[in-house]
Amino acid sequence: MTFADLGLSDELLRAIGESGYTEPTPIQAQAIPPVLMMKDIVGIAQTGTGKTAAFVLPMIDILGQGRSRARMPRSLILEPTRELAAQVAENFEKYGKYHKLSMALLIGGVSMGDQQAALEKGVDVLIATPGRLMDLFQRGKILLNGCSLLVIDEADRMLDMGFIPDIEEICSKLPATRQTLLFSATMPPPIKKLADKFLSNPKRIEV
Ligand code: AMP
Repeated sequence: MTFADLGLSDELLRAIGESGYTEPTPIQAQAIPPVLMMKDIVGIAQTGTGKTAAFVLPMIDILGQGRSRARMPRSLILEPTRELAAQVAENFEKYGKYHKLSMALLIGGVSMGDQQAALEKGVDVLIATPGRLMDLFQRGKILLNGCSLLVIDEADRMLDMGFIPDIEEICSKLPATRQTLLFSATMPPPIKKLADKFLSNPKRIEV
């Protein structure tokens, strides 16, 4: 199995090659084709399995294909911590270097002014922790009606940190017709319930 077998674009294959990855990890091999086919996914995978690239790579191609003129964010990735959010942003920069996607990182500890300026220019990808996103949303600084692709990463950690009510509220602001990807190392009942409520006929992948 090579990255070229997964249906990714030539530009993306070039960026992957330059980063030094030679073959996809099992979560990447199993998740990338259905994500490119716009399916919902529940991925049960620990950190260290390559799960970040399993969603970042197909997202780059999906977002790179159609560009909306609207200034509303087109996709949203929720992460439990600032560090994880920053890592995801680095992945977008590295693999998306031939796609020119715009991105905003909405995390605590970064000035709201800078974040608002990024939002006003329009973004393809929002990467956020739930607390900061809710804060901006409640101040009317952000519209989520254009986010037709949602990633809930590290869902079990979100549960431990008490973020599930925020996530439920965020999901209810997004368009009902959307693609949703949920990743978690474990599947405790509240996460199973969240997946049943907010994902549509997801493909389950366990590595
Ligand atoms: P993650 O599980 O997403 O936190 O990734 C764990 C580590 O694996 C990161 O340092 C990645 O850079 C690395 N990695 C991800 N995909 C691959 C791959 N296909 N080949 C080699 N290393 C990878």
